[in-house]
Amino acid sequence: MNDVIHYQDFDELLYVIERSPIKYNRRKIKNAYEFANNAHGDQRRISGVPYILHPTSVACILVDMGMDTDSVVAGLLHDVVEDTPVGLDAISDNFGEEVALMVDGLTKISKIEYTDREEQQAENVRKMLIAMSNDIRVIIIKLADRLHNMRTIECVKEQKRRDKALECMEVYAPIAHRLGMKNIKEELEDLSLRYLDPIGYEEIEKELKLTEKERNAFIEQIKEKIYNKIGHSVSHVTISGRVKSIISIYRKTYMQGKTMDQIFDIFAVRVIVDTIADCYNVLGIVHDVFTPLPNRFKDYISTPKPNMYQSLHTTVIDKNSTIPFEVQIRTYEMHQTAEYGIAAHWKYKLKMKNAKQDSLEERLAWIRKMLEIQSEAEDATDIVKTIKNDLSTNEVYVFTPKGDVITLPYGATVIDMAYAIHSEVGNRMIGAKVNRRIVPIDRQVNTGDIVEILTQKEGTGPKRDWLNIVKTNEARTKIRSWFKKERREENIIEGKEIFEKELKKAGLHFEDDDLEECLKPVRVRQHCNTMDDFFAAIGYGGIQMWKIMPRIKEIYAKKYKDTEKIPAPIKETAPKKTKHIGSGVSIEGVDDCLIKFSRCCNPLPGDDIIGFITRGFGVSIHKRDCTNVPENILECEEPERWVNAHWEDQIRESFQSTLEIIANARTGFLADVTRVLSNMHIYIHMLNSREIPDNQAIVTALIEVKDMDHLRVIMANLAQINGIVSVTRI
Ligand code: MN
Repeated sequence: MNDVIHYQDFDELLYVIERSPIKYNRRKIKNAYEFANNAHGDQRRISGVPYILHPTSVACILVDMGMDTDSVVAGLLHDVVEDTPVGLDAISDNFGEEVALMVDGLTKISKIEYTDREEQQAENVRKMLIAMSNDIRVIIIKLADRLHNMRTIECVKEQKRRDKALECMEVYAPIAHRLGMKNIKEELEDLSLRYLDPIGYEEIEKELKLTEKERNAFIEQIKEKIYNKIGHSVSHVTISGRVKSIISIYRKTYMQGKTMDQIFDIFAVRVIVDTIADCYNVLGIVHDVFTPLPNRFKDYISTPKPNMYQSLHTTVIDKNSTIPFEVQIRTYEMHQTAEYGIAAHWKYKLKMKNAKQDSLEERLAWIRKMLEIQSEAEDATDIVKTIKNDLSTNEVYVFTPKGDVITLPYGATVIDMAYAIHSEVGNRMIGAKVNRRIVPIDRQVNTGDIVEILTQKEGTGPKRDWLNIVKTNEARTKIRSWFKKERREENIIEGKEIFEKELKKAGLHFEDDDLEECLKPVRVRQHCNTMDDFFAAIGYGGIQMWKIMPRIKEIYAKKYKDTEKIPAPIKETAPKKTKHIGSGVSIEGVDDCLIKFSRCCNPLPGDDIIGFITRGFGVSIHKRDCTNVPENILECEEPERWVNAHWEDQIRESFQSTLEIIANARTGFLADVTRVLSNMHIYIHMLNSREIPDNQAIVTALIEVKDMDHLRVIMANLAQINGIVSVTRI
């Protein structure tokens, strides 16, 4: 087969744009073409054709589908970030944020390595692909990209060709199907089949070729009969005839064991009319001219398919023939949806005169509507249903570089990810890359991130402060158990320190000789055989001091009640610091001074920080690990200018409060709660939701409030939410 016919150049792109009913921004498209052309330079496809022809052809497919200017631009640029040194910033500068986001999504998707280990994996990848592109256009462009690659895959090595074909069959064609993009789906499947079962494919192709003339004559004859009967009773009718896709014939012959002439719908005739009323009129006419086969009529107009497909289907037979054929009847609008699915939406929007560029919100509303219809489908594995549920829960999907999907709770960090993969991965972790960039160890992961955990064979093990960073219990437990096992000596020392500090804070002072005896009941209760076991358990976090302190106080009171009273707890005297109200940072030894946060590292509360006394501009605050901070301050040029700085969290005049919000269960309830809170700029420490009996849902929120009045206002606002039953402070 001649590969070249599948490539289109820029002139051809201009030509399809010319023919399209959509008004395109040609200047932007031309700029994108030139940008991509420059970036790809003299890169070539495996077949030897200049690389730029691939994105140009993808752009043609997108115009043909009726996609908007930005999609076409993103189509032209889709391989630039992946395959050339050009970065996303340049794309964003030249073509805007929206295009850059799409290209970013496409670049990420290309990183996903598909493995056919399990069916589950294919489903995961499908789920991910859609979930990770906030903009559904990314998926559509990806489908166009894949379609073009499949059209030109002839030159690729056989093994790779088969892999791609399988991936298409299991991942991309089902996505196209679920988005209602029938054309794309069928072509992807046909092309895949060609490489997965070349013999079966050829056999069907040959058979169809043999009968082509005959078949065309047959279809012509049917068309004419229908046209004649319709006459002037219905206006603006289009009738076309065709042979079903090879894959659908293949499925019926090879997989269902039917012979070619047992397949009713090899032939299909399509009648397209203006209105729904006309559809039923034509149906009557068709049943009048031909004999309908029993039980073959399907009304997808009154009951659309989950992917929004609408049509009347009937299978009939001509009186003087033995070949049954299928007739599909639909309106022009239904036809658009049938052919282009979700993409038809853009086509319509843009066709309308003076139609404003629809906002993202509108687009999402449409997709949401579609998802809702989908979720009513019987098919329990329906991808969209899964997505819908997924999007409403607080989970993120993260990829390993190999393409495995790891599900984590919202807010989870790269450390959680490491432990979710395997405890050994976590224990050997020394760092992480997200989307190929090195990130700080407390980096939160987001849906679609590709996370690579960097490990060392002889790792130093987890750090104690990871316990404060991780979000999942799994990670926390695994870290603790590592400390328990690997660091007994350290745990004992650490535990003793914690223990002594707590006792001091509570003002308890046991005589050395009494200590062991006094603590015995507590120790035994915690299943510790020796004092060392006991301290070690405190050290790795197995025993929490606040849980055992009441008992210790009791023992203490009993033991020493005759000799002395329990002293009042000693307040810890904080080291003298100079407060700098407003910035939330205090500088040791420097009085009221101007503080600014450095732009190089943008320190945030909680970061380890240090101050640098500038000449005349106050103190600038850097992160400790900022590259501008010398590693060893004492040895740097002007050590006296570096000063210790701390986040002053005592300054905050606010307190935490827990609210319990009950409402009749519905999707979006949690989202409403967070919206109300974020609109009021309320800081949320924790948010939890679960279902309770009587079809109600309960949300528990730990929030930061200024005072009681503030809390009352918040509660009143929450009470306004649709379907709310009660808001209580607990
Ligand atoms: Mn590509």
